[in-house]
Amino acid sequence: MDSQNQKSSASCGGNDRKTPLLDVMRANRPLREEILAAITEVCDSGRFVFGPDCQQLEQDVAAFCGAKHAVGCASGSDAILLALMACGIGAGDEVITPSFTFFATASAVWRLGATPVFVDIDPASFNIDPECVAQAITPRTKAIIPVHLFGQCTEMAPLIALGRRHQISIVEDCAQAIGASYQGRGAGAIGDVGCFSFYPTKNLGGFGDGGMLTTNSDQLADQFTLLRGHGMRPRYYHQVVGINSRLDSIQAAVLNVKFRHLAAWNQQRSELARRYGELFAEYGLLDAIVLPATVTGEHVWNQYTIRISGHRRDSLREHLTQRGVGTEIFYPAPLHLQKCFEGLGIPKGALPETERAAEEVLCLPIFPELTHEEQNNVVSRIGEYFAACGAGAGRRTA
Ligand SMILES: *Cc1c(COP(=O)(O)O)cnc(C)c1O
Repeated sequence: MDSQNQKSSASCGGNDRKTPLLDVMRANRPLREEILAAITEVCDSGRFVFGPDCQQLEQDVAAFCGAKHAVGCASGSDAILLALMACGIGAGDEVITPSFTFFATASAVWRLGATPVFVDIDPASFNIDPECVAQAITPRTKAIIPVHLFGQCTEMAPLIALGRRHQISIVEDCAQAIGASYQGRGAGAIGDVGCFSFYPTKNLGGFGDGGMLTTNSDQLADQFTLLRGHGMRPRYYHQVVGINSRLDSIQAAVLNVKFRHLAAWNQQRSELARRYGELFAEYGLLDAIVLPATVTGEHVWNQYTIRISGHRRDSLREHLTQRGVGTEIFYPAPLHLQKCFEGLGIPKGALPETERAAEEVLCLPIFPELTHEEQNNVVSRIGEYFAACGAGAGRRTA
């Protein structure tokens, strides 16, 4: 029902009252000719994997993040898997990750036979709490995966210190945070490895799947290149068992065209986030909802995530859906409570801030081309809900 609604509102282009959660066509449409020309060039070149377009994108992403190397691969999920493989993660190892994240963060750990150790989040940033990480370290801990969720960097300094002290690899999941920064350093260039996704809904989104790894280490970059191509070097001689994870040229060609706009798009997202803050204040809603906080540096707003306490989140969402405002819940079910991880035996209640976030969060439309009129509509619809549900515009009851 919800995805139906989003689909229909995404295709209507914003001319009626509907406000989609995301409309990728608004960014792609003005670039259509340029993108088609870039795709045509790849068609005519016959170089469909690891061509010059891939190298161009690798160079640009490395420079953009401030990392020495970038290595393309097939998806953000593969980037995390390859990063852990290069760090030598395997059976018997423990990897500390958030539970409040997309599944791929933890599935990569599991696929290598290692154990994901889920830790709780800081409720202000939705990112892992460094104190919880410190408490979860054991002699088996081999890596930490801070996820820069919604576009904001995790508090990295304590994690870097822990990594140094215990010789633990820091693998940043930057899938939602391309262009974010922490203490002047770009996401993906803070820990040992950065993992990026070019899935269409990310801040730099392609026409399908794509991913990238970044690092300042020559040795790790070399391992990524080896591992993404079946561990083969030279041709048909395999040094290690790698995987097949290619970034194809057509995808890279599309991303190269879009990359030129990334900084401006991130700026527009940031401007919209600022404006949401003003509007919610104007509507007197600051007691009814909790706005997302920028606590660790430059936020790139892949999502604008508010909290609604007192079990009203789902009925607010229903109210908005009925009025054509697209929303989403990232993420409704924490990973430690997923069926596939039942074997870990982590009970409900183990990660209280994670579980509370899963019950309270609601992601609102935020994408560079969202109009002020649409944004006003989102906020006024939310105001209408709180006025109608008897709480007044903003009396918190929980
Ligand atoms: C999107 C995403 C991924 C996975 O990226 P894919 O390219 O879809 O494989 C991993 N982690 C997070 C936090 C994500 O948002």
